[in-house]
Amino acid sequence: MFNWLKNRRRKQITAQPFPDEWHKTIMERMPYVAALPDSLQNELFDFIQIFLAEKNVEGCTGFAITDEIRVIIACQACILLLNRPTSMYRKLRTVLVYESLYFAEQETYNEGGLVSLSHQTRAGESWDLGVVILVWEEVLRGYRHQHDGYNVVIHEFAHQLDQENKAADGLPFLDNPDMYARWQEVFSEHYARLLRDVKRGRKTVLDDYGATNPAEFFAVASESFFEESIKLKKRHPDLYAVLQEYYQQDPAQYWDDARM
Ligand SMILES: [Zn+2]
Repeated sequence: MFNWLKNRRRKQITAQPFPDEWHKTIMERMPYVAALPDSLQNELFDFIQIFLAEKNVEGCTGFAITDEIRVIIACQACILLLNRPTSMYRKLRTVLVYESLYFAEQETYNEGGLVSLSHQTRAGESWDLGVVILVWEEVLRGYRHQHDGYNVVIHEFAHQLDQENKAADGLPFLDNPDMYARWQEVFSEHYARLLRDVKRGRKTVLDDYGATNPAEFFAVASESFFEESIKLKKRHPDLYAVLQEYYQQDPAQYWDDARM
């Protein structure tokens, strides 16, 4: 019953015309969307309408949220959901947006179980209790440079996908159960390889931060998949192939076609 109501409501939301201003913002600012096939673009516009109707986007410490900010965040978050079954980030209720880097308290467990508190600057966070936190200046940095492999929205929403099946362990729910074995094999091999490369100071396509733990590896690999697609496909074809099957998109192909 609940699903039926929700689906009916979503149909009403997507029956509304997609605002021209939103369309203009997206097409001007998001080259990846312009490169997508028409069918995926249309699905994306529907998803953005649903996302913005169902989730709150709130400014922190007095930061004023505009329609442009809401649309840019929703657009990048929804790119991760295209072309496959989606629950539209079912746990997520609120996206909190800071204007610039903020400090967060970090608890560290030392040897012997002692807890120490430190303050760290953060560009974003994803909680499994329905909250994503983003820093607007970092969001801007992420989409202005489309091929640097840095995108805080893709990063934090990949964590949301990972957190949907409880553990944040770098293994999200996979639509095709046959994929689990291959995912484990390819991800553990590439995670181990990144750990070795970081230790030896070798430059890789994947950002060093991915060596923090398997959850960060999945978030960082997702950023590279959408932003450094052609490079990732060339250097790590098996990792690209698993992500392509998961995300049901072929960004290397779309970027390549868009350059012609
Ligand atoms: Zn992370």
